[in-house]
Amino acid sequence: MTQFYFSKRSEKFLSEVNPSLKNIAKEALKITRIDFAIISGKRTIKEQKELVKKGKSKTLNSRHLSGNAIDIAPIDPKTGKGRFDRTLALEIATAFYQAAQNQNIKIEWGGTWKNFEDIPHFELVDE
Ligand SMILES: [Zn+2]
Repeated sequence: MTQFYFSKRSEKFLSEVNPSLKNIAKEALKITRIDFAIISGKRTIKEQKELVKKGKSKTLNSRHLSGNAIDIAPIDPKTGKGRFDRTLALEIATAFYQAAQNQNIKIEWGGTWKNFEDIPHFELVDE
């Protein structure tokens, strides 16, 4: 089985988010069949406003602001490049949900959202 490693850039994003989410991402990388990179973590309100303006996010009340969300990019095994494909992301989501269950923490994948499908997005569920 191929072992995947986070890039320096991915590690930096993870270092800035909630440690529970970081631990889930680390375990998910160990069990996933599809490699992924972390492409966003904690955001400032200024960064969030920019994303909303560009239509890349729908809310100023994002869980990214509190460091409770990350975005990932699936790595296509055929090209070695990032590709936002639902089938690839589903493999990664499966690994995330498994890791979260192992660690007894609730998460949500944006790929399940009905109003705005957000394939790259994972967040801790606020209870
Ligand atoms: Zn996100």
